[in-house]
Amino acid sequence: MKFAFIVLSVLLSLPAAAQPDRFDKVQIKTTQLAQNIYMLEGEGGNIGVSVGEDGVFLIDDQFAPLTARILAAIKAISDKPVRFLLNTHWHFDHTGGNENIGKSGVVIFAQDNVRKRLAVKTPIEFFKAAYGPSAPAALPVVTFAETVTFHLNGDEATAMHMPNAHTDGDSIIHFRNANVVHMGDTYFNGLYPFIDTGTNGSVKGMIAAADRVLIISDDTTKIIPGHGPLSNKAELKAYRDMLVKISAKIEAMVKAKKTLAQVIAAKPTRDFDEAWGKGFLKPEQFVEIVYTSATKRN
Ligand SMILES: [Zn+2]
Repeated sequence: MKFAFIVLSVLLSLPAAAQPDRFDKVQIKTTQLAQNIYMLEGEGGNIGVSVGEDGVFLIDDQFAPLTARILAAIKAISDKPVRFLLNTHWHFDHTGGNENIGKSGVVIFAQDNVRKRLAVKTPIEFFKAAYGPSAPAALPVVTFAETVTFHLNGDEATAMHMPNAHTDGDSIIHFRNANVVHMGDTYFNGLYPFIDTGTNGSVKGMIAAADRVLIISDDTTKIIPGHGPLSNKAELKAYRDMLVKISAKIEAMVKAKKTLAQVIAAKPTRDFDEAWGKGFLKPEQFVEIVYTSATKRN
């Protein structure tokens, strides 16, 4: 989930027929990360693609109006069919192409809670918006609780559930041989991350996901964030440290019974705003999210 609130409000207020206009100018940029792995950037969550003899394995699919362009970008790097799609979590900017892609016979995978969220109308409380229920063809066909491993294209790619991180259904995907990790929205590179506390995301879970990926990474690992540019271990470490320091400050204030207004007024993100506060969330919005997470204690 990464939308300026105003943009989101405008988009939601438009009739469906007007929405594709917003996507007309979007181009899909393809970056090769390893022999068999690519990153696609358009609008919405970053896409991972594994190509090779066994067919195409896709991670996330952005928005429905972009499906044709995404498939065209994949055609340019592989003549094999798309066989599998994995959703890193339920948010619409990562699963918007599911119905189009599911209808074409691609098997969609996700953590159990992703299917549960997509199957019903689900709010994103922070943005006062709600989504779904998704069409049957958009729902993941294979779901898993903890991990699933894809033995494809000369690699072993394991999707691992990161509990209560950005949502309650996040997976990160580790391509062992290619040394590539897709972190979904447990990682926003260069901007304060949105944490969907309304679907049981938590700052503690976000930190745990970053810690997990730091353990499985080395200095040559390529890390695909949910949003922001391609990244690496050193940048992920800086992100993790930012989350730890800000959440420790805010948790201390929550323990001291400070109100949200008092916490915002104390500017606990001050030291980090220059580097992280110029993206999707304003500093005070991020403070509110971390405060909410600290008071929920999940
Ligand atoms: Zn998201």
